[in-house]
Amino acid sequence: MIGPVDLIQYLIVALVFVQLEMFFPLRTQQKTFRRHWRDDLVMLLVNGLVIQGGLVLSIGAMVSALHWAMPVQVSAFVKSQPLWLQIVEVMVLADLGFYAAHRMFHAVPFLWQFHAVHHSIEEMDWLASYRVHPLDQIVTKSASFLPVFALGFSDAAVFYFVLLFKWQSTAIHSNSRISLGPLRWLLASPLFHHWHHANQPEALDKNFAGQLPLLDWLFGTLFLPRQMPDHYGTDLKVPTRYDRQMLFPFLPRRG
Ligand SMILES: [Zn+2]
Ligand SMILES: [Zn+2]
Repeated sequence: MIGPVDLIQYLIVALVFVQLEMFFPLRTQQKTFRRHWRDDLVMLLVNGLVIQGGLVLSIGAMVSALHWAMPVQVSAFVKSQPLWLQIVEVMVLADLGFYAAHRMFHAVPFLWQFHAVHHSIEEMDWLASYRVHPLDQIVTKSASFLPVFALGFSDAAVFYFVLLFKWQSTAIHSNSRISLGPLRWLLASPLFHHWHHANQPEALDKNFAGQLPLLDWLFGTLFLPRQMPDHYGTDLKVPTRYDRQMLFPFLPRRG
């Protein structure tokens, strides 16, 4: 289970997003306690520690390997830049890693079975953003952090990036009418990511970026109409209980 500091963070996130979804809902019929909310809550509470543990191991191994490969002058130059510029660079590099790993999880059938757990969300909201298979998260986040640690950005830049990513990734799943106006082309919004979750042919394999739609535009996978999709999910029959979702990718593929 997660520790007390994480628990306080999650309570703040819950407080903010439950109210946002109550007062500015996208789908007014959708309830706060919608179907499978308990399963997603279990996922949030249990997964946090599993993912953190996996990332510590994976990032620890990357940092030790990169320590040998990267000249110290590179990190010294990177750290000498203004903090705001480092944060922007971290966002771009991390999202490139995220984009590549995310697209791979969609393209490789074995990996898709891990990522399908996330795509089994049929009612989008803030809590649903935590429905992820830990192996999916560990690999995708490691790919994000790889270029960041390789170049040796400052701890402050990484801290602000992580903070921004956490709030943005929860917001883009939320059942809220958050709209970024023309900034929707620059930053991932609910419109952008809800289409990634749409179970509609026109949205298949679109919008892979975590934060920057520009990457999808560059790689030809952007889909950003003005209206929201009609329905979400995947045709794969993903179980709803935590333990079964963990085992799902290792079971024979079902239709
Ligand atoms: Zn996906
Ligand atoms: Zn998502």
